[in-house]
Amino acid sequence: MSKALFLDRDGTLIIDKVYLADPAGVELIPGTIEALRQVRNLGYKLFLFTNQSGIGRGYHTIEDTYRVNARMEELIGLAAPLFDAVCIAPETSEQPQVYRKPSPRFILEMRARHALDPAHCWMVGDSAADIGAGLAGRINVAAVRTGKQDPSSLPEVAAKSRASVRHLRRLRRHPGLKSFPCPSWPRLISSAAAGTKPPSDKGSSPSIPTTGKNCSATCPWRNSAAP
Ligand SMILES: [Mg+2]
Repeated sequence: MSKALFLDRDGTLIIDKVYLADPAGVELIPGTIEALRQVRNLGYKLFLFTNQSGIGRGYHTIEDTYRVNARMEELIGLAAPLFDAVCIAPETSEQPQVYRKPSPRFILEMRARHALDPAHCWMVGDSAADIGAGLAGRINVAAVRTGKQDPSSLPEVAAKSRASVRHLRRLRRHPGLKSFPCPSWPRLISSAAAGTKPPSDKGSSPSIPTTGKNCSATCPWRNSAAP
């Protein structure tokens, strides 16, 4: 089975500029290139998983997001394709939720499609939605401090879900959870590979949201950042 990172974009790989539509505004967070190079060398598949409600709000188009993602990949400069698949969730929090984090739908679909080992998969992000998606997708979670908020309290948000509590207890013991800036990705991944047990798949199955009729989504996910 394969191992993988599910990577949030804004605040994790690039500086969060809120509804970024202009490729000229893309700025990598320091350490991103080296971290991605190292985790690729460790054999991790990479998946980009980004909420882009600016599309649903009409602030910009999904084509703008493709261009921003393409610029990001250009700046990263690693061999293409960088991502095995890309999920751009265009819906707003007020619209029916399909792929929008904390929905785990993309994670669950990729787990099945790519035969991923949940013990060696991580959701990496800077928000409660990222953590919620990782927990609901029953993979490991890492909160980065490179976004707009201090994520150290975010597991408490996810703990509101009873199903998450046992997993969270284990996560709290993980020394990397609360301090996971980009340059330390490979270290955390290496230590996690040595000591992390698979998230339990016992009990009720993770629920997959039904498709909302108002969700745009010409592109729930695709195989590269730019079509
Ligand atoms: Mg983010």
